[in-house]
Amino acid sequence: MPAKSKRPTARELLFGDLWEFDPAPESAPAHIESRYGLFIGGRMVEPKSKRHFNSISPRDGSVLSRIAHANAADVDAAYRAAAAAFRPWSRLPGHERGKYLFRIARLLQDRAREFAVAESLDGGKPIRESRDFDLPVAAAHFFYHAGWADKLAYVAPGRSLAPLGVIGQVIPWNFPLLMLAWKIAPALATGNTVVIKPAETTSITAMKFASILQDAGLPPGVVNIVTGAGDTGAAVVNHPLAAKIAFTGSTEVGKSIQHALAGTGKRLTLELGGKAANIVFDDAPPDQAVEGIINGIFFNQGHVCCAGSRLLVQEDIADEIVARLKRRMAVLRVGDPLDKNTDVGAINSKEQLARIRSLVKSGVDEGAVIHQCACRLPAKGYYFPPTLFTGVTQSQRIAREEIFGPVLSILTFRTPDEAVEKANNTAYGLSAGVWTDKGSRILMMASRLKAGVVWANTYNKFDPSSPFGGYKESGFGREGGKHGLLDYALLVPR
Ligand code: NAD
Repeated sequence: MPAKSKRPTARELLFGDLWEFDPAPESAPAHIESRYGLFIGGRMVEPKSKRHFNSISPRDGSVLSRIAHANAADVDAAYRAAAAAFRPWSRLPGHERGKYLFRIARLLQDRAREFAVAESLDGGKPIRESRDFDLPVAAAHFFYHAGWADKLAYVAPGRSLAPLGVIGQVIPWNFPLLMLAWKIAPALATGNTVVIKPAETTSITAMKFASILQDAGLPPGVVNIVTGAGDTGAAVVNHPLAAKIAFTGSTEVGKSIQHALAGTGKRLTLELGGKAANIVFDDAPPDQAVEGIINGIFFNQGHVCCAGSRLLVQEDIADEIVARLKRRMAVLRVGDPLDKNTDVGAINSKEQLARIRSLVKSGVDEGAVIHQCACRLPAKGYYFPPTLFTGVTQSQRIAREEIFGPVLSILTFRTPDEAVEKANNTAYGLSAGVWTDKGSRILMMASRLKAGVVWANTYNKFDPSSPFGGYKESGFGREGGKHGLLDYALLVPR
């Protein structure tokens, strides 16, 4: 059907809340312990800080576990364990290191269902996503890097890769296990050892991952996991034994880390926020584009650094696309993350829900037109209805700031030049999407968009062999692919 055709006049069949679905709860046990210590030197130890905090499930606000709050002395113990493990680990032949990574990947696959349930309980994402995306892609990262471990002499012509030493890593809450895999797999493949800190609201799969490391027989100290809040993260970043810091999180904290590391000689990679433009031209196939827009913004409740949160749609099809989006949103199922029917789960934390609400309020106050789906939200837990804004201008906060929630801001353009101008008019530069029938236009747009990743006629596709990373305030350095390996190594003559 041509993009500009009128809406069909036939009556719509809307299935949303008119038909009650039978609940389809995922029932596998998550095996979450009531209390976790720290994983240092290959075993679980009590924190020297003697402090723990509650890990809350956003699904219903219940307490899932007690997580250790590591202090500087705990972080120091983790670094010493990693430093002691570095020499023997880095001297292992690559194929031996690879065997451990293969083992970790296979163990993750074996326990994928249990981990998926734990991830959805702890973070709020729909079980369909943790089962079909987070777990398989996390395992794929270990498989991919296992393959590289004995081929480090073939990454760059005439040179080989040598490890840096102990790597300090700090990760966010939106893809807890996947971000851990993105960080640990390349670091270990290149012969480094690791101290990693998960985010405070989502530490559970990281602590469960410690048992996988034990089952894989990974030598003690090669990976150390310390939990806690920003102060623990700062202790990881500022420890003198760190050869490199790899940080994924907000631009604000990323900037403070860059300041703190200036002049220390430590290497740094930053994977930060984003405000991606998803650009739809009037020759795009409308059904696929609408699915791509929905996936681009509502995947993982919009808690995605590369979320297509700014829709730029060509003016002559804007009404048509907005109408189709509203119809599609009406049948999204929002609710229990553990129900296999759920499309949009729980917002990760009370704090994040408050932030989303305040940015949405700013959109209304600044004059944009709000549309929310009329879905029934669960009475308990943290939920927000999928939302879109029309009549958005470039200066409004909802067009400039990362909302990190299920909120789409829609702007229009007339010409390709205007689309590029508006897409690049942001402090960020992590990702973008282009929807068009013309291959030449895809290439033209991809070369002009200032974004680390540009998806064409698709969105949110990830592969361990494809480097991911940003421009401008979205950070620097790459994760995945050969480029990601280079960020964990020195190039040395072969
Ligand atoms: P955040 O920056 O608040 O926290 C990230 C991590 O840093 C957490 O583990 C936190 O405890 C720790 N931290 C907080 N203060 C610190 C400090 N002063 N020093 C060291 N560590 C500190 O971010 P968040 O809210 O957890 O995550 C959301 C952000 O992450 C979004 O901006 C999102 O775009 C970004 N993100 C980026 C990517 C990417 O690949 N570019 C991927 C996922 C998330």
